[in-house]
Amino acid sequence: IAAEVTVSPLPAGIGRGALIAILDQSVAEEAEQMRRDFVANVSHELRTPLTAMIGFIETLRGPARNDAKARDRFLDIMEREANRMNRLVHDLLSLSRVQSEERRRPSAEVDLPGLLRSVMATMQHSADEAGVSFETEGLDIDLSLPGDADQLVQVFQNLIENAIKYGTSGGRVRIGLQRIAYEPLLRGPGWAIRVEDFGEGIDEMHLPRLTERFYRVDTHRSRAQGGTGLGLAIVKHIVNRHRGRLRITSRKGEGSRFTVILPETLQRG
Ligand code: ADP
Repeated sequence: IAAEVTVSPLPAGIGRGALIAILDQSVAEEAEQMRRDFVANVSHELRTPLTAMIGFIETLRGPARNDAKARDRFLDIMEREANRMNRLVHDLLSLSRVQSEERRRPSAEVDLPGLLRSVMATMQHSADEAGVSFETEGLDIDLSLPGDADQLVQVFQNLIENAIKYGTSGGRVRIGLQRIAYEPLLRGPGWAIRVEDFGEGIDEMHLPRLTERFYRVDTHRSRAQGGTGLGLAIVKHIVNRHRGRLRITSRKGEGSRFTVILPETLQRG
């Protein structure tokens, strides 16, 4: 524990003795360390595609100057790296926005089944490409919950995108909605939205850290699939803002289930 201790004499006339102030600095230091780690991670993530691009520019100016085939191939790679940087910056901005809004309760109402259906429609193309089919359960009801529609779209886009990416090719992704009469974590009724895949699954030891910024089980794999490692961190902050909970269960080799539990009503405060 880091602490700052100051001892000062009592002002004249109050009596004999001293004032002892102990300031616990461990929390502040931990936050500062996290900030430093984050900046180091961001720098590293941005530098990787940049270094690759600079290398290809040098090669194109030099040895590959007159090689049309190499030029096309290198330009393709450079485009991919530039797109990766673009996605990273986009996700960093999203993360920063959701973090700054986390304390403000959402004031609108959201048609949750409609929102889930429209997210599935926008992801249909990538599902088709991966040969994944969607299954739904409990979406054919009328339900409106307090929430921020744009942010909830982001949550389910991220979860469904991951389920497609890390699920089995040719497999299925199940999206279910269910009421929970009493959710102890919310101390009241809630709605559980499950996004489930039957793919590779996640080793138990990784589960508690999955929502950390830039935490990936397999960095190579995530990068190769265009991941930034920020998706679940963004999801966590949005769910927190909705006073909800994110529950992750998974079995290696069997698949994963990400459950977002949203409160039926938002209490004051
Ligand atoms: P990424 O951009 O790498 O997908 P996320 O924050 O969305 O970043 O996820 C963090 C990590 O969690 C991923 O790199 C992956 O290792 C793991 N992960 C997320 N969703 C799944 C899933 N449905 N199945 C298996 N692993 C997953």
